[in-house]
Amino acid sequence: MMPSIAENIKRICDEVRALETEHQRPPHSVRLLAVSKNHPASRIREAWDAGHREFGESYAQEAIDKIQLLDLEGATWHFIGPMQSNKTRDIAHHFDWVHSIDRLKIARRLNEQRPETLPPLKVCIQINISGESSKSGVSLADASALCEAIDSLPRLELRGLMAIPAPGGDFEQQRANYRPIAALLKELSVYFKGMDTLSIGMSDDYAAAIAEGATIIRLGTALFGPRNR
Ligand SMILES: *Cc1c(COP(=O)(O)O)cnc(C)c1O
Repeated sequence: MMPSIAENIKRICDEVRALETEHQRPPHSVRLLAVSKNHPASRIREAWDAGHREFGESYAQEAIDKIQLLDLEGATWHFIGPMQSNKTRDIAHHFDWVHSIDRLKIARRLNEQRPETLPPLKVCIQINISGESSKSGVSLADASALCEAIDSLPRLELRGLMAIPAPGGDFEQQRANYRPIAALLKELSVYFKGMDTLSIGMSDDYAAAIAEGATIIRLGTALFGPRNR
């Protein structure tokens, strides 16, 4: 039988704690985001019932339908997908975090549309670390100018950097993929005091991401099993 979501969460959390120790990271410095895109609300409910509170979604409409249906008081919702201008209002109203900011125009819209009744939206800038294989994200070289601009937007709270690597590679290659973004966060955090978040690591490479300083790992398949589309 397939392990339950509760069993997957337990096993991975134990493994993350062991990896923190192995790589001299402080205990609980790595947070696990359950990426529930393409999975029905009932699967999110299972993770919730197992005590999990942080969820990541990539498609705005699908996410908002599930967020409203579930109505989970105390859950934290992270938007991690590509963003179109016509979705920023919904995202600004329903999410706590956005990891995938890659242009100022989108940041400005989120800033204007974030309701006054909610705390500032926590944001990460998406960095393109895989060159040709991804169209999303700013280059390492352009990140600091975007940070500067976002830092002046009062309804956004600049928290860090995010990346999606090219798939594949062995452990050492995966670590090497993440080294430049980890170094960049270190540099930027000297100037932008609130930048403490490195959102790197997915089901196939989270051990390497933790070794390089991930503070949020985003796991879909490892927790929920394969996606149907
Ligand atoms: C789907 C997705 C994930 C999770 O991917 P898995 O390989 O299933 O763990 C993580 N981050 C982003 C941005 C995603 O779109």
